[in-house]
Amino acid sequence: MKYLCDCGEFHGYGQTCQRLTRRAERLSTIIEHLLKGRVVRAYKLASAMQVAERTIVRDINILRRSGMRIDGEPGVGYMFRGQQ
Ligand SMILES: [Zn+2]
Repeated sequence: MKYLCDCGEFHGYGQTCQRLTRRAERLSTIIEHLLKGRVVRAYKLASAMQVAERTIVRDINILRRSGMRIDGEPGVGYMFRGQQ
């Protein structure tokens, strides 16, 4: 028996999704940087976390949809502007 995970793939029941686990870890690292008032640059985080830059860009958009006001864009950097 398998179920359709939020990551878009099928997993066996009782199996932890490695993809969602890694995403959650990335999101908390990004939040940590943003809350320190730092400019977060996607390429830097991407190389530190060994993922593609577009993965970080996607993560930022997830945070935005969850209500964090984040200014900036890829190539420039991101800044936290508060909670919506
Ligand atoms: Zn999954």
